[in-house]
Amino acid sequence: YTQAKALVFSKNGEPSDVLQLHTFSISPSISSKSVLLRSLAAPINPADINTIQGTYGSQPSFTSLIGTSSPSVIPGNEGVFEVVSTGDPASPIRKGDWVIPAVAQFGTWRTHAVAELDQVLKIDKEGLRATQAATISVNPSTAYRILRAYGPSTGLGGIGMRPLEVGSGEWFIQNGANSGVGRAAIQLGKLWGLRSINIVRERSSPEETKALKAELVGLGADVVVTEAQFLSREWRDQLAEITNKGRDQIGLGLNCVGGKSATALARSLSEGATMVSYGGMAKQPVALPVGLLIFKDIRFVGFWLSRWNQQDVAGRKHMIDYIVDLIRQGKFQDVPLDEVAWNWDTDISTLAQEVQGGLQGFRRGKGIFVF
Ligand code: NDP
Repeated sequence: YTQAKALVFSKNGEPSDVLQLHTFSISPSISSKSVLLRSLAAPINPADINTIQGTYGSQPSFTSLIGTSSPSVIPGNEGVFEVVSTGDPASPIRKGDWVIPAVAQFGTWRTHAVAELDQVLKIDKEGLRATQAATISVNPSTAYRILRAYGPSTGLGGIGMRPLEVGSGEWFIQNGANSGVGRAAIQLGKLWGLRSINIVRERSSPEETKALKAELVGLGADVVVTEAQFLSREWRDQLAEITNKGRDQIGLGLNCVGGKSATALARSLSEGATMVSYGGMAKQPVALPVGLLIFKDIRFVGFWLSRWNQQDVAGRKHMIDYIVDLIRQGKFQDVPLDEVAWNWDTDISTLAQEVQGGLQGFRRGKGIFVF
């Protein structure tokens, strides 16, 4: 029998209140369609915390599958596992392979898992660190999909749009630019010949703000501005300067934040542009001046990766392979990480504290459990 541990919750609430560490054992006899997995790394994404709080768009069902005293959920949507054994010796996935979840809400915050073959996706681990493999499927995929699918209007009526044209130098603008998604958008945008205007919040000192800006420029950002600059009266003129007096169009906006930042983002867009909201970090609604809808024909849409993953399975696999290749070629850098070692003796308070901190602003890196 394999001894395993998992973080679980049996009711919604703040992670530090409701998370528990559950120990269970896994039988060595697994079905021919299954694999036994050992966790290597699993990040803490904002959506995981929202799921625990009960505010996320889809809620996993509470079950007794791992023998918790009340039905529970194992949180964690993303991660990478090593295959320990397979139920079928002729299985296409072999011992030692690396796999990531193929389904949403897999429950990655655990030391081991038994999964059906169709619940996992094998990735080519050659040249990859576990922490890189564990963080490709949510943030880079979100940036990839948005940049590849959304852009300016193609005409009157409806919401017909075309994606930004690869190699054209067309602009997009985004807030939350130092987030996992934002950093991925900067890098993919650069690789695809697009230009980006990036908004970040000031750090606690001018030196730190300068360092963050330089970091994003290093990733390929064309312009980085602070939110204070972005929300100021001078922004209109600065934007005109950046866009060649408005002759260069900004056809796409990526909204990670909501609130005032989202309104300012919408105001920065060119006629017929699309603003894609994918996150709501400020927990404030998006307020839209009616004039932008009427006179500038700006289109406002939302994006949810889970829906895309469900509806375009083949596209997802292709995209993951593409991103893995970029990482291997050294063309795509991972986000700053705050690694938390999870071994047999790690206690619940260490783990829960790390999760609780995951939604705080001004973090140095994304929390990630490393097993
Ligand atoms: P990260 O944890 O990597 O980054 C968080 C970002 O949010 C940072 O840029 C941070 O900026 C900013 N932030 C935190 N608190 C606030 C605040 N109060 N006001 C303004 N900005 C704030 O996040 P991810 O890239 O993993 O996710 C970012 C968002 O995208 C989340 O809302 C997430 O749920 C969403 N998302 C949505 C997907 C979808 O399918 N719709 C898929 C993936 C992510 P700072 O450093 O200044 O604090």
